[in-house]
Amino acid sequence: MKIELIKGDITKIHADAIVNAANSSLLGGGGVDGAIHRAGGSKILEECRVIRNRQGKCKTGEAVVTTAGSLPAKHVIHTVGPVWNDNPEKSSQLLSECYKNSLLLAESLGVKTIAFPNISTGIYKFPKELAGKIAVNEVRKFSSDIIEKVIFVCFDDENENIYKKLLDQPFKKE
Ligand code: ADP
Repeated sequence: MKIELIKGDITKIHADAIVNAANSSLLGGGGVDGAIHRAGGSKILEECRVIRNRQGKCKTGEAVVTTAGSLPAKHVIHTVGPVWNDNPEKSSQLLSECYKNSLLLAESLGVKTIAFPNISTGIYKFPKELAGKIAVNEVRKFSSDIIEKVIFVCFDDENENIYKKLLDQPFKKE
């Protein structure tokens, strides 16, 4: 899989799927979640409601898919990142699961290109450096015959610099 880094707004990305840093209610929120629902229109929320009625809340680390409404992407994959708290190990594991489960769901949809925001590094206060390491590591160790390109979309300079550095380093398998 090719990995690309873009600084900007994920709602503008032409990819088969964009990932939303949702909350467990799936009913919208602030940050990137708010931006995706605003730009994509009410179809996304309608489908989120259907999912909620079917399965209840979305658990942290899990992922569900909806239409992308009027966005240039085809699908929105909603994953619930962990809130940074006093259990860094558990939070880190859950953040890894967000990336992995989003990639697995994307594969099942035949997605060739997928864009990720910096999950949990906004309102959920996950330290950016650690979140970046987890994101890059999880994507690099995921091998896929279906997904061809993963785009990390950074919204702020700090994340962009962190990702630049991380992606310059060679991948070491643990
Ligand atoms: P969380 O609740 O998971 O922390 P946030 O939406 O608050 O989610 O933040 C996650 C990341 O998304 C942050 O780094 C934030 O700067 C970034 N972000 C906010 N708006 C956008 C956008 N339109 N496109 C891409 N990234 C965004």
